[in-house]
Amino acid sequence: MSTFLVEIVTPERKVYAETANMVSVTGVEGELGILPNHIPLVTALRIAPIVIKRDNKVDVIAASGGFIEVRKDKIVILAESAELATNIDVSRAQSAKERAQQRLAAKRDEIDYRRAELALQRAMNRINVTER
Ligand code: ATP
Repeated sequence: MSTFLVEIVTPERKVYAETANMVSVTGVEGELGILPNHIPLVTALRIAPIVIKRDNKVDVIAASGGFIEVRKDKIVILAESAELATNIDVSRAQSAKERAQQRLAAKRDEIDYRRAELALQRAMNRINVTER
């Protein structure tokens, strides 16, 4: 089976680097399933899980936006933050979710509201990937 290298990098560190068979991401224009030899492309990502299939394993990562670059023999994902499902602190995500919900209920100015919406999306994405 053909393979490609998948790297996930955040401003803090390289989160992931493995040889894989398939990557699924959610781009701003919809879901993308990428196999080796895909045409090159760059697209922005939503706050959503990244699913990577390799050998008989499936890795699930919570990514908080960023970009995916599909190259000839390599995929590079530049994410604002990214955590492997196994590294997620669920109680931290739960607290972040509750904090964001309280802020949304308080209906402050538009910037605070948008910030709380994004924090809620990040927290729910983290919780979701740990439940898969
Ligand atoms: P919090 O309010 O809990 O900090 P956040 O969504 O504001 O959540 P980010 O700014 O997206 O956090 O991330 C800051 C750093 O903390 C990143 O390195 C990210 O990978 C890590 N991180 C955030 N939440 C979690 C979590 N629940 N489990 C593990 N790592 C996390």
